[in-house]
Amino acid sequence: MRIVLLGAPGSGKGTQAKRLMADKNIPQVSTGDMLREAVATSTQFGLKAKSIMDAGNLVPDDVVLGIISERIAQPDAREGFILDGFPRTKQQALDLDDLLDQVGTPLDTAVLLDIDFKVLMQRLTGRRTCSLTGKLLNVYSSSQEELDECTNAGGELIQREDDNEETIANRLEVYRKNTEPLIDFYRNRGKLTTIDAEGEIDTVYARLLEAL
Ligand code: AMP
Repeated sequence: MRIVLLGAPGSGKGTQAKRLMADKNIPQVSTGDMLREAVATSTQFGLKAKSIMDAGNLVPDDVVLGIISERIAQPDAREGFILDGFPRTKQQALDLDDLLDQVGTPLDTAVLLDIDFKVLMQRLTGRRTCSLTGKLLNVYSSSQEELDECTNAGGELIQREDDNEETIANRLEVYRKNTEPLIDFYRNRGKLTTIDAEGEIDTVYARLLEAL
């Protein structure tokens, strides 16, 4: 299964991709996670990407394409992958088509996680990651037990540097301008499936499975 998860920042792509990865045994390929890893380990490229990411802007297409092409050539991606946060521009979508054409394994589908823009701000400002387990949590919607489970075990609830209100507003604008046109791109190719991404994680996941 080769799928793209499309959707605005905060629409739940990462959360749903992680569940799907565990169920279907295919990797979640998140350009955002890979870029954050490069920043955390201070690679030369990571240092350049940091300021772009902190401002909520897009890293250049050729850089992201390089990261993706290396990643999906890995053995664990042979049976498929879930692309999370890529493609984000029309050029990236065209590059992805070329890349997959070259190896004769076309994309199966692009699933749009559809959500009202108003809901996104709360999801994004409340988002935290447990430093011990990497579990994604939200101070507004996770239960107190889930939050305590992390902190009682000595973990910290970490907020992403780009999850502040100013950067979020820019990320949503960048999404509208650069990534939203991909909805029509995949629709015109007969590859778009849309699911309602509002509601509980389990409910959205059930919709995703049904769509696939
Ligand atoms: P994400 O975790 O998907 O929200 O990505 C975090 C940040 O990484 C974005 O705001 C961009 O700065 C950068 N990024 C992630 N994926 C891409 C991509 N496909 N193209 C360009 N920049 C990206």
